[in-house]
Parts: sequence; C-alpha cells; structure tokens
Amino acid sequence: MPKQVTWTLQKAQAFFEQPLLELLFTAQQIHRQHFDPQQVQISTLLSIKTGACPEDCKYCPQSARYRTGLKSEKLMQVEQVLASARQAKAAGATRFCMGAAWKNPHPRDMPYLEQMVKGVKAMGMETCMTLGTLDKTQADRLANAGLDYYNHNLDTSPEFYSSVITTRTYQERLDTLDEVRQAGIKVCSGGIIGMGESPKDRAGLLVQLANLSPPPESIPINMLVKVKGTPFEHKEDLDVFDFIRTIAVARIMMPASYVRLSAGREKMNEQTQALCFMAGANSIFYGSKLLTTSNPSEDKDVQLFRQLGLNPQWTQVKTAPPEKIFVNTLSENSSLFAQNQEVEQKEDASSFFYNAAI
Ligand code: SF4
Repeated sequence: MPKQVTWTLQKAQAFFEQPLLELLFTAQQIHRQHFDPQQVQISTLLSIKTGACPEDCKYCPQSARYRTGLKSEKLMQVEQVLASARQAKAAGATRFCMGAAWKNPHPRDMPYLEQMVKGVKAMGMETCMTLGTLDKTQADRLANAGLDYYNHNLDTSPEFYSSVITTRTYQERLDTLDEVRQAGIKVCSGGIIGMGESPKDRAGLLVQLANLSPPPESIPINMLVKVKGTPFEHKEDLDVFDFIRTIAVARIMMPASYVRLSAGREKMNEQTQALCFMAGANSIFYGSKLLTTSNPSEDKDVQLFRQLGLNPQWTQVKTAPPEKIFVNTLSENSSLFAQNQEVEQKEDASSFFYNAAI
C-alpha cells in the first residue's frame, strides 16, 4: 500500500492559488488515474428524524434555535423508512442514506436504527447514516447491523469552526470519525463552502480531511444553502469558481475518494455542474430533497447526465449474495441506465460509495 501523503496548509494553499484552468487540468488528470470520468455515483437521502435539533449549527434549518418554519418530525417508523428505500431502489439508487437531526442517538432509538440498516441491506443497497456524535458502543452496534458508511462532516477549518457551531467541538467530531473508523464503517466527511470562511479555511478543512488515516472514502462538498431564519441567511453569495476550485483541490489531495457535489447543487446551472465534474466531483444526491433543503428534480438530472454523457454508477453490497438484478431507469421516461436491462451483480473493487449537509 503506498504511503499516505501528509498534507500541510502551505501545500494545500498553493493549489488554491493556481490559475483555475491549470488546477482543473491537474485535478482531471488525477481523477482519471483513479476513476472512470464518465461514471457518477448516485445516492438517495432520507430525513428519518427532522428538526428540533439541540445543536446550533448556524447554517441549519433543523436547529431548534432558529425560526425557519420547519415542521419537526419524530423518528420515522422502520416500515416507513423501508418503504422509502424500496422506492429509491426502484428509481435506481444504489446507496440509501438516512439522516437524523440529533446531537447523538438516544439508546432507546438504537434498536430501530439497527432494524433500518438491516432492512435496507436486505434490499441489496449500501447503507449510510448521519446521526450526530457516536460513542464506541453505538458505532459497533451499527457496524454489526451492517452499516456501510457513516456521515459526519467537519464542516470547516478548526480555526473558523467556532463561527459556525458552538455546541459541539471540532475534537468531538474527530473522535466520532475515529470511532466509526475503528468499528470498520467507511467514513463520509466533508464540509460547507460559502459560510464566510477564507480560502485559507477551505484549505484547512481539506488538510484535516486528507490527513485522516485513511482519508474519508466519501467527501461531500456542500455550497451553503442560505435558509431564511438561520443566522447565515444573509451570507454573501459565493463566487462559483471558488467552489469549483475547492472541488478540484479535494480531488487532488484525496485522489481515491468519492467527491460529492451535495447541498447547493440546485442553485448551480448546468455549466457550473459540468465544471465541478471536470474538477473531479463524481457523486451526487439524486431526488428532489436533501434532508430539508431542495435539490434538482430527477428529470433535470437525467437531462444533465445525457447532455454531459455521464453514466450513473451502480454499486454493490458485498454481504449480499451475487444475484440477478434489474437496473431501472432514473425516471420512467428516460434511460440513463439501459431500460430494464438485466445485469449481473459482480465483484468490482473500484465500485463504491456516498452524503450530506448534516
Ligand atoms: S447540522 Fe445536524 S447537528 Fe447541526 S443543527 Fe442541523 S441537524 Fe443538528
């Protein structure tokens, strides 16, 4: 196994300072060494418990501290979650992500969460959860239930972090990522761009992620969605090239990870999204909602994939026995996937992945 590079802030900042087209060229070259540039991984995200979160993340409409008009909902019934997962599978999703607005899961909820993981796995999809802070016992229980990925974002650099959240420390986040890794669950962790952070903070976030050992398998890069009623409602618009730049540097520093274009995609036009894919993004959320904020409609994504000649990447669940599956289209009228094409599910070391704005 090649030795992991240790990244410094200076090295990361040097990438951010490169001429954009130079940077994109480098990122695309690295991308092609690790991935098929035509393939984009697709995930679906469901909010299994919405709102009333005790944390104070200043971008988040789910915090109980802000008046955003969001209607809180209790933890969904297991059967409801599984019904949504079935729909997502029928629509072509290969990974099903479940998000709960909590500081951490309560012990009484753990059996239900385990049943959700087991039920989704039994459908032949990969599973991902984002539930806040986990302790060792919780991480082990979710791993034993078969959880493939756990999402817990670092959000920003350690230096800018206190301007965003005060109710959970950066170290607590790192500790949760460590518990997840120790339990044998793959790590999904990224951040949010456009919260008023400096380019140095963006570099600092990527240094933190890239120096995790190993780096996260999946890295969601979110563009701030300015939700009315949150403290970040009036943040200045981000220069879209700064977002694209961040994707490119993430690709260069974490060449084998999936870089996910996450929250904020709805505000991006096709050309911006195309440049993000060029910069090395190779994963998206599919579906009209991301937890509580909107996402491009399914039809728009189908059209975009066609225009760009991209293919959705289907993944496989290693614990499921090889079986014949039907890969359906992403929408009834279109065929991103060959329509109702029967394919053999097979081992492929290059296949995986995943999340979100939590
Ligand atoms: S981002 Fe997550 S932890 Fe923070 S307020 Fe929103 S739901 Fe709670």
